[in-house]
Formats: sequence, C-alpha cells, structure tokens
Amino acid sequence: MAIQLSCATFLGVEGIIISVEIDISRGIPSFNIVGMADTSVKEAKDRVRAAIINSGYKFPNNRITINLAPADLKKEGTIFDLPIAIGILIASKQIEIESMDQYLVMGELSLSGKLKKVKGVLPITIEGSKKGFKKLLIPYDNYVDCSMIKGIQIYPLNSLKQAVGFLLHKDMPSYHYEEVKEIAKESSRDFSEVIGQEAAKRALEVAAAGGHNILMHGAPGSGKTMLAERITSILPNLTYEEALDVTKIYSVHEGVNYEGGLIQRRPFRSPHNTITEVALVGGGRNLMPGEISLAHNGVLFLDEILEFKKSLLQMLRQPLEDRTIKITRNAGTVSYPSSFMLVAALNPCPCGFYGTNIKPCRCSDYEIKRYIGKLSGPLLDRIDIFTQVNPLSYGEINCNIKKESSKEIRERVENARTIQVERFKSENIKSNSEMKQKHIKKYCQINNKTSKILELAFNKFHLSTRVYSRILKVSRTIADIEGKENIEEKHIIEALNYRKFINSEII
Ligand SMILES: [Zn+2]
Repeated sequence: MAIQLSCATFLGVEGIIISVEIDISRGIPSFNIVGMADTSVKEAKDRVRAAIINSGYKFPNNRITINLAPADLKKEGTIFDLPIAIGILIASKQIEIESMDQYLVMGELSLSGKLKKVKGVLPITIEGSKKGFKKLLIPYDNYVDCSMIKGIQIYPLNSLKQAVGFLLHKDMPSYHYEEVKEIAKESSRDFSEVIGQEAAKRALEVAAAGGHNILMHGAPGSGKTMLAERITSILPNLTYEEALDVTKIYSVHEGVNYEGGLIQRRPFRSPHNTITEVALVGGGRNLMPGEISLAHNGVLFLDEILEFKKSLLQMLRQPLEDRTIKITRNAGTVSYPSSFMLVAALNPCPCGFYGTNIKPCRCSDYEIKRYIGKLSGPLLDRIDIFTQVNPLSYGEINCNIKKESSKEIRERVENARTIQVERFKSENIKSNSEMKQKHIKKYCQINNKTSKILELAFNKFHLSTRVYSRILKVSRTIADIEGKENIEEKHIIEALNYRKFINSEII
C-alpha cells in the first residue's frame, strides 16, 4: 500500500502543498522518483539512501517508487528529502505511525542523516496553516523563519533520527525557544528633525494618508531626501497580514539581509539610478523579486528620478497600476506583489536652481523642457501629488517653534486610513489612491458650489479627465484627514495646489 505524506514547495511568494507518495513493491531493487522532479530532487535518492542507513535503519532492497504530485508543477530543491525518508521507513514497516494527515514535513538531509536548512519555509508555513495542517516538522535552523505564524505547531528537528523519535514517541529534543524576533516598529528617523518645510510635510502627510504617489521637486540640498526617508515613520503600522506579506518576500529573496522574524516596519527602498531592470522589477535566473516587490506595503523612493533610464521608468507603469508584477522568463512565470507608494524627487532643471532664489538658473527654456520631458506622460499621470521643496530661509532655520513628531502626524494618517478601510470594506481596495472611476463616482460626490471651482480649474488649465480624477481622490483624502464626510471647497483647493509642477503650471 502506498504511503502518503505532505510536503510543500513555493513559487514566487506562494507556498504550494505537494503530496509525496511512497510505494514499495516486490521486484528488481530500484529507486525512482517521478513527478517532474529536476536534478536536485533526483539527487535526493543518494542523500536519502545514505541518511537512512547512517541513521541506523535499513534501506529496503525492493522496488521503491516516489511520486510527487501535482505532476505538472516543476519541483526544485532538496526540501523533499525528509518526507521521502520518513515515507520509506513507514512503507517498509520499520516504523509504525497511525496517521500523517496533520503533518507537513520538509527538510534536506545530509548523508549522515542531519537535517539542513531549506528555502521558502515562510510562504510554505503560511499556506500549510491556511490548508489546515496542524503540525510542521522542519529543520531546526528554519525555526526562526516561521515561528511567528499563528495556528500551526512547529517542531524544529536536527536529524532524521530525531524526526522518527518525535513521530513515534512524541519526544522532542530540548530546544531553546527563542523569543520571536520583532524587527523594530519605530523608525529611527523622525519628522521633528526636519526644520521648516511645512508645506512639503503637509503634502507628505496627505500622500501617506491616502497612499498617493508623490513627487518632490526643488533645488539640490533643499531636503528632499531627508523628507523622503521619514515617510515610513508617518505611515500606519503594518497589520499582521501585511507584515506576513512583506516578510514572505524578504524570506525568498537571496540578496537582501533578512535574518528571520516578522518584519513589522514598512519597507523603504531607495534603489540607485544605475539599477538594472532585473533588480528593479524582478526576474533573473532564479525569478527573484525586485525592488518594487521589496517595497511592497511600503515606499519606493526614486531620488533624482530623471537620472534613471527612461526604459526603467516605463517598466513601473504596469506595477503601479496593477500593484502586482508578473515575471515570465525561461525559468517559468511568477507573480510578486508590488503595492508600493512611489515617492520621487527631482531638481527643477539641469543646473538645479530654476525657480529658486539661491542662484540664477543657467538653463535655457528648451533645456528645461527637454529635461522634464524625460518624465514620460504615463508615469506623470500616476502621480497624485506634486510638491516643491524650497531651501530654507534664515528665519526658518532660526525658528524655535516645536516641530510635530512623526507619531503625532501618524495618528492623523491612521485615523484617515481607518475611515478608508471602513469605506472600502466591500470594494476590495484599501485606500483612496486605489479608487477606480466607479469608486470615484460613488465616494467623491461634490456639491454645486465645489463643483464650480473644479470646473473653473478644468477649463482654465485644460486638465485631462485623468487629472480631474486624481484631484478628486486627493480631495477625498484631505477630507478624511479632517474626518469630514463631504468634500468641501477648501479640500479641492488644497488638492489643486498639489498639481502645481515646476513653473507653477498646473498639470
Ligand atoms: Zn537651471
């Protein structure tokens, strides 16, 4: 009779349960693994055989067939070693276990029978917990990766022998339960450290409150980067589900420094303008997530956005719209979440001083136009808020007014977000920035008087309907910050101000 155990693999950041069937029958001794196993799974045969023998059991001298299902899924890695070995021991009646139904089993075996760390344990554990598995057998070194998952009991083990001991007698080796690492919630950077810049701070508050993409423009050294680096400090804390989504991405990425534990701070990613396509959007030989996914549920900051290659910026259009990225390469197709807030910064012109009172600008009109023209229309279209960051005046530098802390601003942001979550609970979106036309129609109603102002602006500045929608969305957020049910004139006027780009033109 075939024995069946459950293991799992992962694709992108999603865990997939794999059924491992083991059949031992009479016949010429052989050992086969079927079910589209790649070479690393085939190598499992040698490891499993040696591990079984070196753990003091017998390797059956029969015809052994292992089937990994579903067969149409490409399976890689060494994660199936442990379930295969346990299955062989059960099927050959060397150990007797009533039922393996509640167990999810995974781990790589060394030739000596020791269990070694495997990749992707976090998404697998989350999927296992969702699918109702109650017990998870994993290599000891993977413990910290998944110990924060609720609803599934985790048994970290050092060897095949220990795994068998546990299954037979429920004896767990004594191990040190480490306090689940919580990566600090609070950002070390605070808005109270930023002198002046009240208008820009307000714009960032509105952006944070509605999840709006924002572009800051101003002279070099005016503080754009300093402001951007503090945005995550005013964004609401991650919920448990959001934190899991973020942690999953970091746990499968090979290039970032992730040491386990639940990531509870919103990510802030600031890739350099020399970044490659693959590093930005994801892909490569191993289909790794890119910066846009590492920024999921957080902020993607593109400093000096015009220094990025135009083709790179073009690639942001689709993920900005869909909040997810599909990557297709020879290695297969995966989807990674990429719902980030885009924060961009640029100088107003090539010399950097257009429209400032620090130095006269040396650029010609044509040069300025060409410079700004690099920012393609479709990308500009996805930015809700523009704000100018001016160099400080002497008076501002010496001003002693107490600055608001990030915590105070975050409280207003959180209140506005709570209103949005409540408003959109049946709509499958979470923030004002995600509103589509039908939502705008439903939730951004304005009275005649307010409508008049918008009409005036629409005609005067030749606004596109896209921009018109963006103004309404941002107005909705400003009203939410005030806890107002209706969008009022002043909200529209403030939102119109956020459409002023370089040259004070409303775009
Ligand atoms: Zn200039």
